[in-house]
Amino acid sequence: MKASSLNNQIDDLFFKAKKYLPKKEVEKIQMALDLASSAHKSQKRMSGDDFIVHPIQTAIRLAEIRLDPDAICAALLHDAIEDTNIDKNKIKKVFGPEVLSLVESVTKLGNVRIKKSWFPYLRVQKSEIPEFERQVETLRKMLVAMASDIRVILIKLADKIHNLETLSHLPEEKRERIAREAIEIYAPLAARLGMGKWKGIMEDLAFPYVLPKEYNELRALAIPKIKDREKYLREISNKVKSLLEKDSIRPEIEFRAKRWYSLYKKMQKYDEGLEKIHDLIAVRIIVSSIEECYTTLGLIHSLWKPLVGRIKDYIALPKPNGYQSLHTTVFTDDGKIVEFQIRTVEMNNQAEFGIASHWVYSEDKKSRNPSKREVQWLKDFYQIQKKVNSVDELADIIRMDLFKNRIFAFTPLGDVKDLPSGATPVDFAYSIHTDIGDKCIGAKINGKIAPLDTKLQNGDIVEILTKKSAKPHADWLNFAKTPFARGQIKRKTG
Ligand code: MN
Repeated sequence: MKASSLNNQIDDLFFKAKKYLPKKEVEKIQMALDLASSAHKSQKRMSGDDFIVHPIQTAIRLAEIRLDPDAICAALLHDAIEDTNIDKNKIKKVFGPEVLSLVESVTKLGNVRIKKSWFPYLRVQKSEIPEFERQVETLRKMLVAMASDIRVILIKLADKIHNLETLSHLPEEKRERIAREAIEIYAPLAARLGMGKWKGIMEDLAFPYVLPKEYNELRALAIPKIKDREKYLREISNKVKSLLEKDSIRPEIEFRAKRWYSLYKKMQKYDEGLEKIHDLIAVRIIVSSIEECYTTLGLIHSLWKPLVGRIKDYIALPKPNGYQSLHTTVFTDDGKIVEFQIRTVEMNNQAEFGIASHWVYSEDKKSRNPSKREVQWLKDFYQIQKKVNSVDELADIIRMDLFKNRIFAFTPLGDVKDLPSGATPVDFAYSIHTDIGDKCIGAKINGKIAPLDTKLQNGDIVEILTKKSAKPHADWLNFAKTPFARGQIKRKTG
């Protein structure tokens, strides 16, 4: 590899780090780079590149989301314990116990290797059971590591992304497996953390290796349409922009083509042609305050009629992963349908980087709010997995937590409960407290009495009615969804 290319990559890393880190922290990163470079010296990647390129690219990905310097150092050293004879004590002495612990956790995670598709795992053959158990165990390990420090998984995901970027250098028989792992395991993990951008990046890197024919057909079909559509959207948006500027609002307007894999999935799901897909390109209007978001929405609606039922206020009612935005779909003057997403800069960061946006480095230690960094479902998972002893049950929990669509419902006081789709008031009751579940006799959904087996919908407000003398019923098992509720009911009625 040419030295100039390596130097460019190092420059890129420090350019990005200096944008948000003080000198002292940048120096620490330089030391981590020096240590990693000497440890990996003379090692090569399959591409022929010096090995150090890989940790550097992993670190760059994390510097882009302005992760704290300990995580950047750990990213630079993430393959050093396993692949070199580096001295752990040295890492600890120079960089502190936190960096060492991050590096060790990433090393311990290892790789999830899936032979058979994880879906549908229920059809596992007897001979494959050890493999299946190993997969479940690896996923458990990952989730437990995430529960203790989310940065471990962020480093792992950044590592995966670079491996996907360089997949073409691997032997052909390995490519598809690694790409499939990304789509089946790592992309859903990123999604569950609200990291929509990384999820999309991983899926689109993996897509051509998993479904090459479909990938090529879709691109050939969509690229000309995307070009036409973008031209049209720019015209429409200029109208909005000039009106907003009269109100002294200076919006950033972004046009984002839908990611290939998510476009593919959407067409499969609805069995629809491209012309029916209105969000082929998303129009994002980014303004500087919440007030300006609503002003912008009002202005768009004064220009064009909105489609009924398509106005979504995720600012007042954020999604459980923290996503906030206003969405509206309108008929434009020439009868076309256009979707707008309106949000602030902070909301845009949250939408792209989810949980990671709470780890953004800040010099002011007081503004680093630890409670915002906690992920409730991970904390719950950590507690629940300790009590589970069958692999099937554990697999169910992981499937529910990670791969099932989620809905969110509210208590009358506005607390959000994050539940798998199909969850019922009984699941909701147990998610508040075991006692509330046990003593539950009925429920009001959005103010109306509803049966306990009602499937909750996104945004429902659920009030649980309880009675002191009440007890769980065995027939709740016919409809309760969450592993936690089911476990409690079984224990108390069996
Ligand atoms: Mn690596």
